[in-house]
Amino acid sequence: MKYPIRNGVIVLGVLLIGLGIYSSWSMEKRLPPVDYTTFLAQLRSDEVKGVEIIGNKINATDKYGQQFQTFSPDIKQLLPKLEEGNITIRARPEPKSFGFFESTLPLLIIIGAWMYWSRKSKQHEPGMKGKDSLVPQDIAGKVTFADVAGIDEAIEELMETVDFLRDSSRFTRLGGRIPKGVLLQGPPGTGKTLLAKAIAGEAGVPFFSLSGSDFVEMYVGVGASRVRHLFEQAKKHSPCIIFIDEIDAVGRSRGAGGMSQGGGDEREQTLNALLVEMDGFQSNETVIIVAATNRPDILDPALLRPGRFDRQVTILPPDVKGRAMILAVHARNITMGKDVTMDMVAKTTPGFTGADLANLINEAALMAARKGKDQVELEDVEEAKDKILMGAERKGMVIRDDEKKVTAYHEAGHAIVAMLLPEADPVHKITIIPRGRAMGVTQQVPLDDRHSYSREYLMDRIKILLGGRTAEEIVFNRFTTGASNDLQVATDIATRMVCEWGMSPVMGPRAYVTADKGFLGGSQQRLNYSEATGQLIDGEINKIIEDCLQETMIILQGKDDFLHNLSQHLLEKETINGDEVGEIMKASA
Ligand code: ADP
Ligand code: ZN
Repeated sequence: MKYPIRNGVIVLGVLLIGLGIYSSWSMEKRLPPVDYTTFLAQLRSDEVKGVEIIGNKINATDKYGQQFQTFSPDIKQLLPKLEEGNITIRARPEPKSFGFFESTLPLLIIIGAWMYWSRKSKQHEPGMKGKDSLVPQDIAGKVTFADVAGIDEAIEELMETVDFLRDSSRFTRLGGRIPKGVLLQGPPGTGKTLLAKAIAGEAGVPFFSLSGSDFVEMYVGVGASRVRHLFEQAKKHSPCIIFIDEIDAVGRSRGAGGMSQGGGDEREQTLNALLVEMDGFQSNETVIIVAATNRPDILDPALLRPGRFDRQVTILPPDVKGRAMILAVHARNITMGKDVTMDMVAKTTPGFTGADLANLINEAALMAARKGKDQVELEDVEEAKDKILMGAERKGMVIRDDEKKVTAYHEAGHAIVAMLLPEADPVHKITIIPRGRAMGVTQQVPLDDRHSYSREYLMDRIKILLGGRTAEEIVFNRFTTGASNDLQVATDIATRMVCEWGMSPVMGPRAYVTADKGFLGGSQQRLNYSEATGQLIDGEINKIIEDCLQETMIILQGKDDFLHNLSQHLLEKETINGDEVGEIMKASA
């Protein structure tokens, strides 16, 4: 919706200029008026040198070169008199319906130009191509399953869809109906769009693509007709694929509080149009609709009914093996140094999605190129990863020495607690170079991809988080604001332990928040419970944090040498890796 406004301004500018030109043109002949009697008198006394006749209007020039204008009641009568004298006569046809034309022309230009521009600007928006140009993409052979790595189960499930598209008659021979809808659900960046394209690419069919938010963010009343038009076009190109990204924007259930995007009515009409179209296919039309969402929990159940999106495929972020394969796909055309193996990079990137990994390889390649290297080395990958995880280094930021010292002790505190707790993930890297909003970062990398966590592991995480602030307290005997994010995360973990995971003996195995079915998290709400229960919950959360804090204090108190040595190294080198931390630990014992 940015375009119409901006183009509106441009249109207005053009119009004002146009209006200026137009009125100066019509002003050109508006000469000083003279009555007809005076004109005849001048004619008689040979004062008129030339005339231009336009209809009844006469533009005259006298012998002094002065111009004036008059109107003749009867040109025919006048003509012989003009011909008698020594006068140049020119004539022009009269413009038709001059008065009306003159007064409405600017308005017509305004309206015309506005219509032209607003149509044009609509075409710039994705999915808003002019009515007859909803063009399918031809991606046959350009994107295939070979471009999609690490999600073999999903590919296997979708092979069937490819077969349908290639030769539907094979399946409908016995009267069966081709499934129409496939719903891909998973967090952003896991390759849903890529997968949909790969289906079209493998089957060699056209690919129509639209985003759910395109439907509802448009002008009121357009969504539904848009849907109808889309299907109309698609049927003409059968067999083909329609990909609808963010289907939740159109298809969120009425109860899901979704009045935030577009009007509720508008969305409902669009959704209904979509359902009607999906139900209305003929058996000879092989149009498969692939939809993607990261909020399957809020979808209207009507969408998931048999005959609609009844095939559902879940795509989760890849595990370590999957990450290595995705990395390999994206490193195909990049010159990698011998020291970089995809297995190694995969190990240090838990939680990365396919999109993150693609971005990582690209950033690393750019970084190496900027340094003038002719291959991408491990340090480039590391640097790119830090940039993605923690934001770009803020090299220009001026940090006072005492601030830097506090940061060094703070990060050393995190790292030492992590090193000394048996269950904790190994320390991968510590840095006191500020990045994003953080003054320093201690990175841990798990040995494997965990999907569930023990109570002990979570308690250890809280202790590590509190380690930074505790180290500051021990060394400087005061606190800084640098620990605010640590405290936030620690409190969040403790809260979930009590309210969600049943890990408090007092509160018991009960959930006190709504289930979190989306892939993004953070949408939980407290269930109803009494005030007394609320107080118990708060008490339990406090107890977890207090217990962890005590233990953290005990761990760090006996480790003065380690703390000072590690901080000293950090101040000198600014960034040190896990192995170096291990060596310093040994040397400090
Ligand atoms: P989504 O639609 O799930 O948000 P996309 O399909 O848009 O994710 O993924 C963005 C990009 O990330 C893709 O174009 C591709 O480069 C990369 N990517 C994501 N998943 C994979 C994968 N499984 N294999 C290879 N590349 C992937
Ligand atoms: Zn910290």
